Amino acid sequence: MTDGCTYCGSDIERHDPVFVNEGANAPGNQAGRFCNYACLAAYIESEELTYGTACEWEP
Ligand SMILES: [Zn+2]
Repeated sequence: MTDGCTYCGSDIERHDPVFVNEGANAPGNQAGRFCNYACLAAYIESEELTYGTACEWEP
């Protein structure tokens, strides 16, 4: 079985995996897993960009 990075799809077992959980009251409810902090940061950035686009107003 292979656990792929949520962002880039790499095999996180070959790196230093970072796990993100969705809320403290939901143990095991994994929001994402990343092969390193760079992917985590890039993923968050892309997510925020998505939200930003949604909130963007037309001039
Ligand atoms: Zn990655």
